[in-house]
Amino acid sequence: MWFRQLSAGRGGSVMVKENLADVERRIGEACRRSGRDRKDVTLIAVSKTKPVSMIEECMEEGIVDFGENKPQELRDKYEALPKNLRWHMIGNLQRNKVKYIIDKAVMIHSLGSAELAQTIEKEAEKHNLIMPVLVEVNVAKEQSKGGIYPEDAEDFIREAAKFPHLRIRGLMTIAPVVERPEDNRMVFRTLKNLSVDIAGKNIDNVSMSELSMGMTGDFEVAVEEGATFVRVGTGIFGERDYGVKV
Ligand SMILES: *Cc1c(COP(=O)(O)O)cnc(C)c1O
Repeated sequence: MWFRQLSAGRGGSVMVKENLADVERRIGEACRRSGRDRKDVTLIAVSKTKPVSMIEECMEEGIVDFGENKPQELRDKYEALPKNLRWHMIGNLQRNKVKYIIDKAVMIHSLGSAELAQTIEKEAEKHNLIMPVLVEVNVAKEQSKGGIYPEDAEDFIREAAKFPHLRIRGLMTIAPVVERPEDNRMVFRTLKNLSVDIAGKNIDNVSMSELSMGMTGDFEVAVEEGATFVRVGTGIFGERDYGVKV
């Protein structure tokens, strides 16, 4: 593992700071390799299970985009921290929990069912806001994962685009866990190609400007293949301990 792990005698802020510098350098190098502008890639620090104090360490380094996959945790951290932060809902979202985040998240990355689209529409209307969303695509067709299969994405998007309080801004995928990051290159390329295809259909209310893909194990390949959001948790904060209540 290339990232630093919190351990006895090591100051937390040193770890987060050094890890962030590594991630930042590697995103920059991936941008240069692929001729992309660094400004076109947003690093989302995935802070799930991690305490507010570690988020504050990231803020000191200029990070404002954070990702959470539990609605109540996103809500609680939103309440506890300055309001200029941008919270991304990145995980499987149950319909009955949309209400916790509808007026707190800047984007929902995991729209994967018509039922969820309907609930987001209802809650967004209640709050008189328009919710930016990404459609989650299950590129590798893993049974364990949610999301729309690539061949169903266009039809799904045409339907979801009819909801007036929901704005589709692009696609998201959670790539398989692999040994070598290169093994996910085709997954990322497939998502990019799909987004170009769908953009070409000029569907009302739909933009394909965002591609949320790449995590700690493979974010450089994702950047090379066109990611506009990379979602990095472990590589910034160290391994997660799901036994710990935040
Ligand atoms: C946890 C999570 C991440 C971050 O994973 P790491 O491997 O720790 O970088 C990214 N995306 C989603 C949807 C996640 O749930």
